[in-house]
Amino acid sequence: MTKIIDGKLVSQKILENIADEILFLEKKPSLAVIIVGEDPASKIYVNLKKKKATELGINSTVIEMHETTTEESLLNKIEELNNDEKTNAILVQLPLPKHINTTAVIEKINPKKDVDCFHPYNVGKIATNNKPYVYPCTPKGILSLLEYYDINPEGKKVVIIGRSNIVGRPIALMLLNKNATVTICHSKTKNLEEITQTADILIAAVGKTKLVTENMVKTGAVVIDVGMNRDENGKLCGDVDFSNVKEKVSFITPVPGGVGPMTICTLMHNTLELAKQQNAIN
Ligand code: NAP
Repeated sequence: MTKIIDGKLVSQKILENIADEILFLEKKPSLAVIIVGEDPASKIYVNLKKKKATELGINSTVIEMHETTTEESLLNKIEELNNDEKTNAILVQLPLPKHINTTAVIEKINPKKDVDCFHPYNVGKIATNNKPYVYPCTPKGILSLLEYYDINPEGKKVVIIGRSNIVGRPIALMLLNKNATVTICHSKTKNLEEITQTADILIAAVGKTKLVTENMVKTGAVVIDVGMNRDENGKLCGDVDFSNVKEKVSFITPVPGGVGPMTICTLMHNTLELAKQQNAIN
């Protein structure tokens, strides 16, 4: 029988542990979020992050910068936060306006405060199977789900659709580090269906509604749907044709309620981790 992976439940348990831990900390963790411009989706994400942080006892500051802010002013702001002892974690909400070089911005963040794990220092640590300061939020959230449901990736054939720096690439490396046999697919992959059919664990991180259909999955596979799309009625949905695929697989994440809640929960966990590292608490 198929098990629906409950990201809400798992994230709730992790969040409760975070709140308990923060309660006993002398210095509360502190997260600074920079948002440049007025992108409505980014504003919603930033508000959600602030709300969740506040609920958990994390000090959070949102720094709103104007759409026309120069790259230099943004880099100066990051430098200020890098040097501010009270700030443990820095997040720059992406995407940035086109005139700003995103790579330069990411590389400006002190890797010790890089709560998203986007800095090449931290990414390189993962690529060489070493520990970054913290792991990237969505990939780590996926691993927490697998762990909670006792799904051990070791020796499993994992197929990932998508190769973004935020999801596809880091989850591929993290699963490789856990001894899975990993294949990454993308828009230029030929015979996608043939490859996905071989997966014990299939991860879809594309951004295309119902890209993954029933005929693309092996019976009994584990399916993780990272996609966050809107269907023809404006309803939130993933990359997987959930109602048909779920009949065939052993585990599947729904959208909403699967990977989504794990991402924000991991962000909170990462903020706590960075604060503990900086305050030398085990
Ligand atoms: P992205 O940067 O747009 O990357 C999409 C990837 O999918 C690319 O590697 C692209 O290939 C590949 N792709 C596109 N069309 C394809 C096709 N027909 N067949 C195979 N591969 C195809 O997206 P992202 O940032 O990784 O996000 C992916 C999805 O996850 C989005 O819906 C996003 O909203 C969602 N997301 C959710 C969470 C969460 O917390 N739940 C977090 C992050 C992202 P190329 O590289 O060749 O272009």
